[in-house]
Formats: sequence, structure tokens, C-alpha cells
Amino acid sequence: MPLHESEAIVLQSFPIGEADRIVSFLSRTMGRVRGTAAGVRKPKSRFGSTLERLSHVRIWFFEREGRDLVRINQVEMIESFVGAFADYGSSVALALFSEIIETVLPEREASDANFRLLLLASQTIKRTGKPEVPLAYFALWTVKLGGWLPPFDRCGKCGRQLLENEPLYFSPRAAAVACAGCRAGGMRTVSPVAAKLARKMLTERLDRFVDDPANADLIAAKPVREATDLMLDVIEHQIDRRLKSRELLESPA
Ligand SMILES: [Zn+2]
Repeated sequence: MPLHESEAIVLQSFPIGEADRIVSFLSRTMGRVRGTAAGVRKPKSRFGSTLERLSHVRIWFFEREGRDLVRINQVEMIESFVGAFADYGSSVALALFSEIIETVLPEREASDANFRLLLLASQTIKRTGKPEVPLAYFALWTVKLGGWLPPFDRCGKCGRQLLENEPLYFSPRAAAVACAGCRAGGMRTVSPVAAKLARKMLTERLDRFVDDPANADLIAAKPVREATDLMLDVIEHQIDRRLKSRELLESPA
């Protein structure tokens, strides 16, 4: 039974038996892994609050031959996100993060980019108390890293370069965006400002993006939500089911 050590983010956990939990986590070195933690629900559990959702931890676990579930041996907290869950909007965004990672990433495939995205988006929510832009950014980049994002700067049908102030048309099923002339049935309009927001978010780190006063116009509620909804639609199309936590998202103010 080899012992592994990795940096990880807890995705979710649920009780099993009298005192144990099954824990799903995204490890930096091995990707998404599921394991059991024994005695977690005993009053003096050595795991403490380390297995709360989105905890950024260092984790030690054993592989067990012929079994999917690893045995979690020890967990040390690097950063807790429990406080961020106190705000309703933030808690919904964080729940969406873990649900999306859980459904989009295959088990046991390391993805450092997804790991860093999850951590940075969670940290930005915790730091700013504002979940909207981190959620849009997380959804957009999840789509991008999944290889499902068409280029936003030219029409996939006629190849024409799209102007910055021109609306474009997109469907979660389509592998490309279209200009007004090539728009097909079922394609919805993407406003120029939401498209600009998406382009900009693809070139900047989230923490710098939210702190840059030059982006104030782009970070308005409407385009941010438009981009979020569009990307969540793509994700739902790819995983072929609805995201449960999405139903809890409130309409933008
Ligand atoms: Zn076209």
C-alpha cells in the first residue's frame, strides 16, 4: 500500500457507517480522487474541520489494491473556506465550483490548470465577498480548459472577423459562433459587452481582473450573468445533465 502525499481541495464528503465519511477531493498530483476517512464524526476526530467543502489541504492517503476508494490517513489545513459559505450568493457559487469539478473532470487525471482555477476563484470570492465575477470566470475557463470554447473573434461559418461592437450568435451545441448573416435556428444572441468580457477574462488572471478599475464597466451585473449563463449552458450540454446548485442562483439585482 503506497502512501501518497499531495496538495488537494476537498470537493464534497458524505457520511458512511457510524463515524466515517467518503470524501471526494481534487489532488494536485493525481486529479480527482475518492476515499474514506475513518472516525471523522467522532468528537475528537483528528481530521477536525479539514474535510469541509473546498478546504485547501495537504493530504496523505493509501491506495488499496483493487479498490476505487483510497484510505485517507492524514489531512492538514492550508486554507479554510468555511467563512465564505456564510454569504448566500458566495455559498451557491462555491457549491457550483465543487459540483462542476466533480462532474467535468474524470477521476485520476491530474490537471494543474483546473486545480489552480478552482483555488484562485475560491480565494477571490473569499477575499472580495463578491461571487459573480469569479463564477463567470470559473465557468468560462472550465469550458476553455475542456476544449469546448469556440473562438469568439470570427464567424465559424463564413470566417469573417467579428467587430468588437457587433453581436454574435451562439448555441451550446455549436462548436463555433456565428455572425448575424450566418445565424442558425436555436442560436442565441450574445451581447457585444458579454463577448468583450469573455475575451478579456481569457487574457487576464482573475485577481488582477477584478482589481483593475479599467474593468469596472465590464463587471456590471448584466454582462457577467449573461456570460455565466452561457458557459453554464455549455457545461450542462457537455455533461448532459442539469447542475443541481444552479437552481439556487438568484437573478442578478
Ligand atoms: Zn458568418
